[in-house]
Amino acid sequence: MNGNYLQTPIVYLKGVGPNRANSLQSELGIKTYQDLINFFPNRYIDKTQYYKINQLQRNSAEVQIIGKITHIKSVDQKKGKRLVATFTDGTGQIELVWFRGQKWIRENLKLNVPYVVFGKINYYNGFSMPHPDMELVVDHEKGIKIAMQPVYPSTEKLANKGITNRVISKLIQQLFVDIKGKFTEALSPKIISTLNLISKSEAMYNIHFPQNQELLSKAQFRLKFEELFYIQLQLIAKNMLHKQRIKGFAFDKVGTLFNEFYNNHLPFELTNAQKRVIKEIRSDLGSNAQMNRLLQGDVGSGKTIVALMTMLLAIDNGFQACLMAPTEILANQHFIGVQELLKNMNINIALLTGSVKKSQRKIIHEQLESGELHILIGTHALLEDKVQYKNLGLAIVDEQHRFGVAQRSKLWHKNTIPPHILVMTATPIPRTLAMSLYGDLDISVIDELPPGRKPIKTVHRYDSNRLKVFQFIRDEIKIGRQIYVVYPLIQESEALDYKDLMDGYESIARDFPAPEYQISIVHGQMKPDDKEYEMQRFVKGETQIMVATTVIEVGVNVPNASVMIIESAERFGLSQLHQLRGRVGRGADQSFCILMTSHKLSVEAKTRLETMVRTNDGFEIAEVDLKLRGPGDLMGTQQSGMLNLKIADIVKDNDILKTARYYAIQILKEDPKLEKDENFVINYTYAQLIKHKNIWKYIS
Ligand code: ADP
Ligand code: MG
Repeated sequence: MNGNYLQTPIVYLKGVGPNRANSLQSELGIKTYQDLINFFPNRYIDKTQYYKINQLQRNSAEVQIIGKITHIKSVDQKKGKRLVATFTDGTGQIELVWFRGQKWIRENLKLNVPYVVFGKINYYNGFSMPHPDMELVVDHEKGIKIAMQPVYPSTEKLANKGITNRVISKLIQQLFVDIKGKFTEALSPKIISTLNLISKSEAMYNIHFPQNQELLSKAQFRLKFEELFYIQLQLIAKNMLHKQRIKGFAFDKVGTLFNEFYNNHLPFELTNAQKRVIKEIRSDLGSNAQMNRLLQGDVGSGKTIVALMTMLLAIDNGFQACLMAPTEILANQHFIGVQELLKNMNINIALLTGSVKKSQRKIIHEQLESGELHILIGTHALLEDKVQYKNLGLAIVDEQHRFGVAQRSKLWHKNTIPPHILVMTATPIPRTLAMSLYGDLDISVIDELPPGRKPIKTVHRYDSNRLKVFQFIRDEIKIGRQIYVVYPLIQESEALDYKDLMDGYESIARDFPAPEYQISIVHGQMKPDDKEYEMQRFVKGETQIMVATTVIEVGVNVPNASVMIIESAERFGLSQLHQLRGRVGRGADQSFCILMTSHKLSVEAKTRLETMVRTNDGFEIAEVDLKLRGPGDLMGTQQSGMLNLKIADIVKDNDILKTARYYAIQILKEDPKLEKDENFVINYTYAQLIKHKNIWKYIS
């Protein structure tokens, strides 16, 4: 048993003093023995191979050589001093070079004694190896024999403090010696035998000191599985508990309003995907548990109508409903749209945003409390304490990724029993990732666009082609279309970005002069009234061009707009580009997206642009995005601190994730409280993880 021992603060480990302990904690988050032992290499170098100096190629990356230092000298350069050692193995010589820690190295290096040196090779008038990892051959032979040298994640600061890869490796070796290489098994015998896994101790040993490639692979699989298994176990357990404990309002009537709307006022035939999703929602609402559902659907897939019909179900059952959107523009648009769709029905709807006047607000508050108001649409103003309902039964959140988990939970407290919650997002999250992120939510997907949509044509153009692009805009306006021109607005350089926006606006105004052309402009620094005014001019078709920052990104619906021009497109992330593009292609006409950039493009920016040109599929784009940026950067995941995985990779280890999820579900189904003997180990490990907060601090 080593559970408690592993909780010892890292400062007590032999070889770690207060200084190193500080650095390990601040740079790598390593506080305890446990943290250190679970600090895994991110790659390995084949250590079975030794190079001879005469075999070195100019492109040899990291190599291992045995040889001797014949002499050492300090060299003065303009840039500062460096220490240079001549290292030879009989077939040739290279220079070992140090820029830091020269005094210590000079005093400690031994001349004419065999060393194993390891490091990156540079070529400039001969080969050199800066800051090599070095070990005397006699010591090297005493150490644990490994086939693959682990390389641990590091930082510049650690390197400067002399906490090299070798030091980390030695510390871990020390720990292994202390605990005699024995780890408490964390998975049940049943899982281990079914999946043919190696033991925890064997896996830990081979992840840090791989004996061969095969054992390394087995160790990686086993530890990734374990990590993902316990995350899934927690998420699923929570979800089950939730369903048992959180009573919800039963909406057992599909009443007159729902039917009346469906039969008489639905302006189009629902897609099959929309029908399926409405069915899923209805079945949630009819059960006695509170609904917590995530509705995913690409931009333009028709989530709004689903929201609306869900709200009708609430009203049919004597409840009120609210719909919350992340921006005023979007809340406005929902308000106008919902009002239009329900205009022939006897339903009271109000809009509540930051710019609603005090007197009007008061009326809304009163009508909400009396129950006169059926539907409230608005921004996060809906979350204010003053907003009290007579009987809120359903809360819908549009564009979930703009809201934090905390805001979602505020909605819970707007009634004595929490209302049903439906969150909608157009940020396509690959399903398995969604499972990890929103494991406490059930997921519905609209995976079909309304019929008759033509795929948007996307092209990439350089700034030097601007005249042609402008001509294209003129042609489109001539046939009655409207155009968006969007500029990036990125916080660090806000002032500069506004200058770009205003310069762009002026140049467009020059090329598209009034009265023939009318231009709207919308950006975040405008007053809400002015924004709204400009927006409405564009919606009504009074202006042909809308120059905007990304405030336009979310949800806005102007079916006649058919061209989206994105300026400095290289500065946008993929999901943002996709969201922006989704503003067009909402009508029956062929739509276009033009990505404008300078000639200077990073490799990543090129991949983003190529992906946008290649596909309209939001899920495919999300996958590429995830690969480029890693899940940590995916919108909304950063605050939630969710995906701080130690060894598994949500994208690359998708199959393992699925397996882990499958077993977690099976086990909890058969034994929800993990009381059976065969699940003893799982129960114990799970409790330990929770106790030491080593599992996700997932709140909802
Ligand atoms: P999003 O999922 O991006 O919120 P919207 O709900 O705004 O999409 O719908 C986009 C457009 O498609 C709207 O103009 C809407 O009226 C229309 N629409 C939605 N569902 C259908 C359908 N089944 N058939 C035809 N048009 C539809
Ligand atoms: Mg929408």
